[in-house]
Amino acid sequence: MSEELLKVDGLQTFFTIKKGFPNPVTHTVRAVDEVSFYVNRGESFGLVGESGCGKSTIGRSILRLVEPHGGKVFLSGQNVLEMDKQQLLKMRRKMQIIFQDPYSALNPRQTIGKILAEPLYVHHLGTKEQIRERVFALLEEVGLHSDAANKYPHEFSGGQKQRIGIARALLFEPELIVADEPVSALDVSIQSQVLALMQGLQKTHNLSFLFISHDLAVVRYFCTRVAVMYLGKIVEQGPVQQVFDDPLHPYSKVLRGASPIPDPTLSRKMLRMEGEVPSPLDPPTGCHFHPRCPQVMDICKKQYPSSISIGTERTVACHLYSQEKGAKERTS
Ligand code: SF4
Repeated sequence: MSEELLKVDGLQTFFTIKKGFPNPVTHTVRAVDEVSFYVNRGESFGLVGESGCGKSTIGRSILRLVEPHGGKVFLSGQNVLEMDKQQLLKMRRKMQIIFQDPYSALNPRQTIGKILAEPLYVHHLGTKEQIRERVFALLEEVGLHSDAANKYPHEFSGGQKQRIGIARALLFEPELIVADEPVSALDVSIQSQVLALMQGLQKTHNLSFLFISHDLAVVRYFCTRVAVMYLGKIVEQGPVQQVFDDPLHPYSKVLRGASPIPDPTLSRKMLRMEGEVPSPLDPPTGCHFHPRCPQVMDICKKQYPSSISIGTERTVACHLYSQEKGAKERTS
């Protein structure tokens, strides 16, 4: 039986920006709006969607690198959003992040050894000798020689820097890693090596990943379940294979149609995405996808569809599906 590690319930994160000259007006961007999902222990859960849909903000909100405005985030049953500074510092050891651009997260004036050792010193996690050994062991675990400890970030390739980013994320033996586009800046051949490394570490350490990516092929390879996001909301979620092979939401269908298929024996009707992603400053009324949806109906322009369950493992937010209709359609 799967054990739930992370539960996100109705998460909301808004940003305010001022626009206009000479009399600026304050606008609220609902970057993450009523988002709910869970991640089991040892599982990789994917978040996909076009750039600007709010998936990275979800990762940062869970870690409280940005402060959410509403909802609940439970890690091992404890609400992260109600924690004070001290509790949060402790909890953050269990939740780490891997960034898309590891170089920007590494101090160019420090050796890799210092970068990795410093947080362990700050948290008094061992003697000088123990910390030195831990750094060497971590470097070897991510496929680097212990000599790397004496080098500076600029001396490494993109793939090696991401390995260092992964080593840093492992410093405190976390339970959950938020991987924010961890391989999208890497060459395809390097991507598969880094993904294989992360899979190996997941098994060894029983890690859970919240895997954020715009690349459906990478998510299909790495994750067991996935949520599709559009303008701050989850429009569909379920097991990866079901969502990608038999998408329910019109946006998921178009997104899948726009992705290359790795298997040449499979064919797919190419669907075109009409129009641009609307501005999150002024999202369309009703279903946010309605100006681009090939199946739009009158109700879609007036009312946001609530999320309904299809079977035991899937949810979709679309007026094409009602509780009865959706269940009937999926069983026929
Ligand atoms: Fe399209 Fe309407 Fe479904 Fe939105 S609710 S995805 S506009 S059919």
